[in-house]
Amino acid sequence: MEIRLENITKIFVQKDKSEVVAVKSLDITIPTGKLVGLLGPSGCGKSTTLYMIAGLLKPNGGRIFFGEEDVTDTAPEDRGIGLVFQNYALYPHMTVRQNIMFPLENIKVPKPEALVRAQEMANLVGIGELMDRKPKELSGGQQQRVAIARALVKKPRVLLLDEPLSNLDARLRLQTREEIKRIQRETGITTIFVTHDQEEAMSISDEIVLMDFGEKRQVGIPQYVYDYPENLFSAKFLGTPPINIFEGEIKTKKVILDGKAIGITKGTNQKIVIGIRPEGFVLDEKGTFELVVDMVETISRDTSLIIIDPTRENETFRAIVDSKHRIKPGDVLKVSIKTDKLFVFNFETGELIK
Ligand code: ADP
Ligand code: MG
Repeated sequence: MEIRLENITKIFVQKDKSEVVAVKSLDITIPTGKLVGLLGPSGCGKSTTLYMIAGLLKPNGGRIFFGEEDVTDTAPEDRGIGLVFQNYALYPHMTVRQNIMFPLENIKVPKPEALVRAQEMANLVGIGELMDRKPKELSGGQQQRVAIARALVKKPRVLLLDEPLSNLDARLRLQTREEIKRIQRETGITTIFVTHDQEEAMSISDEIVLMDFGEKRQVGIPQYVYDYPENLFSAKFLGTPPINIFEGEIKTKKVILDGKAIGITKGTNQKIVIGIRPEGFVLDEKGTFELVVDMVETISRDTSLIIIDPTRENETFRAIVDSKHRIKPGDVLKVSIKTDKLFVFNFETGELIK
């Protein structure tokens, strides 16, 4: 089922009567059966958006649709959502089985049926053997699976996950996120996955919605947003190592950095922000651009990360190159820049200049 947010706004009034616009005129469509990553820095309004979809918070303006149904004024328990939080929120005195069955008791599903459904969900999330344990006898990853099973047992129309992996250590985080992807595929349930971690969002999502200061900044499949950032925020938020940023200018359709032309653009003469992805540098004897290598790190068998200490002040930038070049600190490299890894942004607005 498709979820549609139309012009959703949420304003919080603080104790001192000042207002925080947590979400601002947000339009989002979550396609049926997809896993959409709601991504952005801490405080940008992700949880607020999720809780409005869940019905736990009421928007100050705008409408929320589940399919054709306007659910803006529908109570949370009547929306058919399953919600999973960062901190699992399991009942500590109950067993895994009781935790998973709990939502079914609330809606008076007969016990024999509830037992069967709880076991099915536990099997689906891979904890079918652990039904008699208490939460404290489980690892963080297992606890989070119980929370997911509990969210799914009512067969919700929508699964909402708020930073579900943040409390897990690195290895479990990776494993559990693959598990979530698998569960989502198997159930085909429309899912919104909130995270501030771009790598996590990029790896798990069919589509990402990138937010900043309560506003939508870009939407698309992860690779597309990485390849075609529409603004400086989007360019900077995605990518490890991050995009390299410089001040420059456009002169007669040329992109000028440090007085040298490094590319071409359709933009008119103006001051600009230049973004170059780390993989955008090509070693090239005829290259106009010179870099002094400060450090070299091995990323994988075939690639090295070069950290370059430019002659410019306060700018460290990073290039990724084939390790066969055997680059070492102190080397002076001549490079050219791949046109599809070079981005030019309006200096004031940060919007991409095409
Ligand atoms: P995120 O989940 O992206 O980290 P939130 O949606 O939790 O961000 O918060 C968005 C903004 O709204 C933040 O500035 C936060 O401080 C503010 N906010 C969230 N909840 C409340 C609340 N109940 N009262 C006042 N301000 C809030
Ligand atoms: Mg949050």
